[in-house]
Amino acid sequence: MAISRHKALAHLPKSLPIPARPLLSAPHMIIVTKPDATEEQIAHIIDRIHEWGLKTEVSRGAVRVVIGVIGPEDVIREKPIAAIPGVESVTPVLKPYKLVSYEFRGTPARVRIGDVEIGGNEVVLMSGPCSVESREQIVGLAHEVKKAGGKVLRGGAFKPRTSPYTFQGLGEKGLELLAEAREETGLPIITEIMDTKDLAAVEKYADCLQVGARNMQNFALLKEVGRSKLPVMLKRGMSATIKDLLMSAEYILSEGNFNVLLCERGIRTFETMTRNTLDLNAVPILKKETHLPVVVDPTHGVGVREAIPAMALAALAAGADALMVEIHDSPETAKSDGEQALLPDEFADLVTRLRAVATALGRSV
Ligand code: PEP
Ligand code: MN
Repeated sequence: MAISRHKALAHLPKSLPIPARPLLSAPHMIIVTKPDATEEQIAHIIDRIHEWGLKTEVSRGAVRVVIGVIGPEDVIREKPIAAIPGVESVTPVLKPYKLVSYEFRGTPARVRIGDVEIGGNEVVLMSGPCSVESREQIVGLAHEVKKAGGKVLRGGAFKPRTSPYTFQGLGEKGLELLAEAREETGLPIITEIMDTKDLAAVEKYADCLQVGARNMQNFALLKEVGRSKLPVMLKRGMSATIKDLLMSAEYILSEGNFNVLLCERGIRTFETMTRNTLDLNAVPILKKETHLPVVVDPTHGVGVREAIPAMALAALAAGADALMVEIHDSPETAKSDGEQALLPDEFADLVTRLRAVATALGRSV
């Protein structure tokens, strides 16, 4: 569904600078004709476009004719231009994502989780266990996160698991325990939301909603968190392109929630020595394409404990605004993702190394 400029602007926070160039005012497509297109076919293409109430700008090359289509973008997008005989390619000039695009804001956004700001000079570390398992576990690990220099506590209460037979999380009890850990340490909390029916409960306790990966294209859920007052961290799906991720983020922003973080968490490739392939390409590409801060999750991205610190360092060097790393005090008895959890001491050691890289790059941790 196309977003009207009116609707987009109605959602804008008052403080957001509006770009000088009107966002949706000059949409067009570029049609390139086939080298063997006849004059009749070219005339027919132009006639058809005019019939749709659109304008054309024709430029003739030696072999091909290039036709610019001018008119409202949403009207142009829904026309089957590629089906007209003689058309070789149809290329949209404007990006399909609007509100998330870098140009829309013209400057990088900062997103707050509680008092912690993401998107500035400081690389924010989020850490905690994959799942909340008990009061002792989550409170103990929260203290470890804080001691090591982590700023946000992560922990799953509603777990998105590939198998229905594995631990699914403690549900609302897990949220209560997270809130207790926040009470004890002052760390704001981020936790998963998988179902619109759980939103009220999760909103009651969480400081940031984690959605995506397996749910990245659960559009009903995206729209619902788009109406939340809480910030949202959207994880890239394991088979999603960067553009898919941006389009999913667009769903959230188009409902009015601009406090969105994008998280690279590894994608499926042919590689089998790691759980996923951490696509660090996504970091500089996202930085170019969107104003939204970028988080990297090397834990799920690699899935092999020994390799996680190296990829965390690489993610920082690549320009991530925040990192999310899972820890556990007893990985061998963890209810989920124990094989990829760092011990608290290993995390503390990683933070020391992250600080050194951050300093070298003029940033801080
Ligand atoms: C998690 O953060 O524990 C998790 C389940 O991540 P993902 O949804 O990226 O697999
Ligand atoms: Mn996990």
